[in-house]
Amino acid sequence: MPLFEFKCNDCGYQFEELTSSTATELPLCPECKKADTKKLPSLTSLGSVAGQSGSNQFQAPSCSPGGG
Ligand SMILES: [Zn+2]
Repeated sequence: MPLFEFKCNDCGYQFEELTSSTATELPLCPECKKADTKKLPSLTSLGSVAGQSGSNQFQAPSCSPGGG
């Protein structure tokens, strides 16, 4: 079962909940017990794609000396 992250709009509490993809109802906030929660985008996929920061490196054309 997939693990989704939720955040409470009322108290801002963030929690994880194992819920089915077919489930449409949002879980209650374990902190304030309110149903005013929203599902956050899955953060687990960010693990693999890390690094590769923007590096603008110019590569000069290879010029061999004494061409003939
Ligand atoms: Zn809450």
